[in-house]
Amino acid sequence: MVFHVMLIPTLGCPSNCSYCWSSEENSPVMSIETIKEVVAWLKDFRDDQVTFTFHGGEPLLAGADFYREALPLLADGASHLQPAFALQTNLWKMTPELAQILAEYDIPIGSSLDGPKELNDRQRGIGYYDKTMQGYKIARENGLDVRFICTFTAQSVKFKEDIFNFFLENGLTLKLHPALPSLRAESSDDWVLDSKEYGELLIFLLDKYLENMDDIEVMNIDHLCKCVFTRRGTVCTYVDCMDSTFAVGPDGSIYPCYRFVGMPEYVMGSVYDHPTMEDLAKSDAWARMHKFKDYVDQECKECPHISYCRGGCPYNAMVPSNGEIEGVDPHCTAYKMIFEEITNRINQNFMGAPGMAMNPFQSEPAKDTKPGIMPLIFRTMSK
Ligand code: SF4
Ligand code: SF4
Repeated sequence: MVFHVMLIPTLGCPSNCSYCWSSEENSPVMSIETIKEVVAWLKDFRDDQVTFTFHGGEPLLAGADFYREALPLLADGASHLQPAFALQTNLWKMTPELAQILAEYDIPIGSSLDGPKELNDRQRGIGYYDKTMQGYKIARENGLDVRFICTFTAQSVKFKEDIFNFFLENGLTLKLHPALPSLRAESSDDWVLDSKEYGELLIFLLDKYLENMDDIEVMNIDHLCKCVFTRRGTVCTYVDCMDSTFAVGPDGSIYPCYRFVGMPEYVMGSVYDHPTMEDLAKSDAWARMHKFKDYVDQECKECPHISYCRGGCPYNAMVPSNGEIEGVDPHCTAYKMIFEEITNRINQNFMGAPGMAMNPFQSEPAKDTKPGIMPLIFRTMSK
């Protein structure tokens, strides 16, 4: 089992995206002392392989000196956990110096871009596109692998064709996010993507992806196909993340996930106290996350997708009820739509339904039918 420690060096961010809930002005920046305490905490915490993801806010605000010291401390100090790294950034603060430090550790970069310049800047702010593309250029010149998260909002979903074509034509890997409501602010709700629209968007992207499989990678669709085919979740939304994900805030506080960072009621402990799993289990946040797991076991028990959905994201589920567990992830409708679409297409491919390919490896569609899904499934399985 892999476990995931998200490190949030700061909640500060130089950008001001309209629908964002995860930045905070005047947020402190994590000290190297805190990184040393992360290493000490993990010494006897658990034995599974760990992935450290730097997230924010904007993690590059911590600066080159922070990464120059933090990365060897984590790589060597947690070597018994065979650490892997990742970083999620808007790239504005990327410099050749920073890129070289990150490249030494082969750190895959996730960035954010919502489509062509005009569309992107409409929801992320004027100038965002140019600053991100400038950072992208520096990252690529220094050998970093960059993939983009594209947030679809209630506004931008109307331009889904243009957005897909933008990523396709520019040879950029795409992962999509629906704009989500937050426990921390009410102001973003105008942007929030309705669940049915999100489901339709996923099916649209599945079709576009199958038509252009050799020229683009759509990470969500890969994950969803793998989930359905193996009947196991492969990303945090579709597993019991409470057993495998933790986040450390700028001051060393431990939370269930980066989305709770900065909310005192979700603090489970501090890296400075080197808590065990049993210690973290005594916190209210732990109890609430596990209450969600029990709730899903009951509420979703008749759902054919439960083994690879697990009720979706507990944070999303808590937002409409102000932190209480009163429902599953509100995107249940979208998840069911795409899970059923993928399941039906797999069945059609295998059963050779009229108009569909008899041979699961066959990628050429019969006339007037959609391309078969099995070549994509086999590709995702081989990754
Ligand atoms: S709370 Fe949601 S975003 Fe956070 S780790 Fe769990 S599933 Fe992922
Ligand atoms: S699709 Fe909906 S009902 Fe099914 S497991 Fe997921 S959240 Fe539960």
